[in-house]
Amino acid sequence: GAQTSPAKPNILFIVGDDMGYADVGFQGCKDIPTPNLDALAKSGVRFTSGYVSGPYCSPTRAALLTGRYQTRFGHEFNPAGARGMPLTETTLANRLKADGYATGLVGKWHLGAEPEMRPPRRGFDEFYGFLGGAHSYVNASGVLRGDEQVKELDYTTDAFGREAVAFIERHRAEPWFLYLAFNAVHTPMEATDERLAKFPDVADKKRRTYNAMMLAMDEAIGRVRQKLVEAGLEQNTFVLFISDNGGPTMPGTTVNASRNDPFRGSKRTTLEGGVRVPFILSWP
Ligand code: CA
Repeated sequence: GAQTSPAKPNILFIVGDDMGYADVGFQGCKDIPTPNLDALAKSGVRFTSGYVSGPYCSPTRAALLTGRYQTRFGHEFNPAGARGMPLTETTLANRLKADGYATGLVGKWHLGAEPEMRPPRRGFDEFYGFLGGAHSYVNASGVLRGDEQVKELDYTTDAFGREAVAFIERHRAEPWFLYLAFNAVHTPMEATDERLAKFPDVADKKRRTYNAMMLAMDEAIGRVRQKLVEAGLEQNTFVLFISDNGGPTMPGTTVNASRNDPFRGSKRTTLEGGVRVPFILSWP
């Protein structure tokens, strides 16, 4: 159909958290339905040898947002406390904002909770999400809109999908950059009863919860892609989907029941299972 997109492509950058390499349909997964991610893969390019630059959350996000190896600015490990990415670094949001883009972060930051390190001071016009490395899916205590604590919270994955859709609606007439960083499927293992009930045959409780959490993320991504279609922006929106690191499948301590088949290693290691991730680019 007729496109009303601006000349500059919109950029939708979706990040999953602690996902296993084998845990989406487009990678061969059988026990978790991910039709929306599978459709995204079909619409673009699936990189079977896509790597992140480290095996932990914060370092890979620092690299993704700066275009630099995180070791160049001393950020090769998750930062302690409220510390975060050095203020010497320029983010992708800073650059796109300067180029006329509306910029937003929905979801997890994990690049510093000190006041000067928060998303609104790192190039993001809008922020709805949390500052640390993990968050409850059901308790609103650490979720902010801008710098203000929110009062109520839907299940975070649903809330982040809703906020992403609203961001696209607000900015449909101008170029925009949305960094949609789900906390799914990082711990704590929390899923809705409705989605848990869809996996009666999965005997392992942790895996059943993981599957329900993955399903929620896939549904949220489906709502966001549907919004792109409704707004006439599908053709001119560049969509990237990756996980920030491999699944935390350490022997004897499987953290979230993710699977990195056929690779060895996990989050926290630089074997393939730690750094080779599900990776899609789509720009119809
Ligand atoms: Ca992670």
